[in-house]
Amino acid sequence: MQTVTEKKMLSNFVNGQWVKSKTDRYEEVPNPATGEILAEVPISTTEDLEEAVAVAKEAFKTWKKTPVPQRSRILFNYQQLLVKHWDELAKLITLENGKNYTEAYGEVLRGIECVEFAAGAPTLMMGYQLPDIASNIESGAYRYPIGVIGGITPFNFPMMVPCWMFPMAIATGNTFILKPSERTPLLANRLAELLTEAGLPDGVFNIVHGAHDVVNGILNHPDIPAVSFVGSQPVAEYVYKTGTANGKRVQALAGAKNHTIVLPDANMELAVKDIINAAFGSAGERCMACSVVVAVGDVADTLVERLVEESDKLTIGNGMEEGIFLGPVIRDAHKDRTLSYIETGLEEGAKLLRDGRNDKSSSEGGYFVGPTIFDNVTKEMKIWKDEIFAPVLSIVRVSTLDEAIAYANESEFANGACLFTDSAKAIRQFREEIDAGMLGVNLGVPAPMAFFPFSGYKKSFYGDLHANGRDGVEFYTRKKMLTARHSY
Ligand code: NAD
Repeated sequence: MQTVTEKKMLSNFVNGQWVKSKTDRYEEVPNPATGEILAEVPISTTEDLEEAVAVAKEAFKTWKKTPVPQRSRILFNYQQLLVKHWDELAKLITLENGKNYTEAYGEVLRGIECVEFAAGAPTLMMGYQLPDIASNIESGAYRYPIGVIGGITPFNFPMMVPCWMFPMAIATGNTFILKPSERTPLLANRLAELLTEAGLPDGVFNIVHGAHDVVNGILNHPDIPAVSFVGSQPVAEYVYKTGTANGKRVQALAGAKNHTIVLPDANMELAVKDIINAAFGSAGERCMACSVVVAVGDVADTLVERLVEESDKLTIGNGMEEGIFLGPVIRDAHKDRTLSYIETGLEEGAKLLRDGRNDKSSSEGGYFVGPTIFDNVTKEMKIWKDEIFAPVLSIVRVSTLDEAIAYANESEFANGACLFTDSAKAIRQFREEIDAGMLGVNLGVPAPMAFFPFSGYKKSFYGDLHANGRDGVEFYTRKKMLTARHSY
């Protein structure tokens, strides 16, 4: 077992073995809370990928024929192992990503839920039949796996996002190559070890660490028929266009700018608590983070005052320590990018109500930005348009729900949107008119559970079938239609 007790050179995981990459390029993986180097990750070559694809292609020949209940049983074993190692996995997430331990613990749960859903493969893979489409002729649909699936994942959910992909992909009979974020590669390696312990045959799940070259290798490889991607918008668009141009099935989940509308009849304390969590939890590095609050009518002054009061109380530091709410952002460069957005907001004329730039000095190590709140933000501003992906919250003031919905709908992203109100009429209008895929009412982070699709659209998603839910089953399978004439 690989442990993270000292700095180490990571390997790829191919055919159930740790395999040294052929690259001479390694990138340091710091703990974002301290700057301490945890490991070095190989920036693997396309040759490394070629070898993994050949292994996964070979493994597919037997894995696709392994009876579905047998595949499913391995996932049941895996679920048990993830539960057993819950604390260890959560600590690993905090160590490499920086989110606090409680959030990391919750992330492990979201991963486990995906495994539990995928373990239902015998039911999920069922086809459908008609015994008599004509005299003595029957017809039916049978569901099959596709082949070697490529999965490319971001840094912000090192466990949950890979678990959106590989459990369902392998449960439905595919083999899998994961290219984890080079910024959070450690947890993925542990997931691989536990899969072997659960009884997964060698070659079914493989990891090739790296960056652009491995991604391009996946997108161009003729033996990879489908690619699941989660990451930022420009890369998602590139992955989708390149993959589909090469004849692949691609789902690419992208960036976000989620609006939360607060009406005057909202439960103020609930709204404040949930918005603080949604805007500043995981240091704002969630695709479902609340990055814009749209305050309607006379709710604005009190809401703004309470948000500033509560954000002043947030504890900032190493997420491994008890009682810490706000951990670091992922890298020094991401901190610099965030600080430059705060400068931009000031230049654009937004009112800086809470300045998180100096909440924690960098001299202590780690890449910290405190909760930052801008008021009087307008849609001409870059801080409204762009995904900042950090603890920076914008407040927009409008007079009516109509105006609030129209505002949110102008965003080029459409991942999530929330509404705080007691009015059934307003909830219905919001549901019908808002242009976003995942809606929350009186809660802050409306991320669907594994058995529903993660259903962003516009520039938040490229593809046809989303991750998770029945969409996930459809994405990782294809159907054969059989029409048969019988003498009886
Ligand atoms: P990223 O786009 O930088 O990286 C994602 C993956 O793409 C990584 O594995 C990376 O190695 C690879 N990559 C990066 N640049 C590339 C390039 N030019 N060519 C080829 N491959 C490249 O994203 P990130 O910073 O790791 O993650 C944060 C982003 O992910 C945010 O935009 C967030 O909103 C988004 N995200 C979206 C969802 C969703 O469900 N819509 C979920 C989680 C994260």
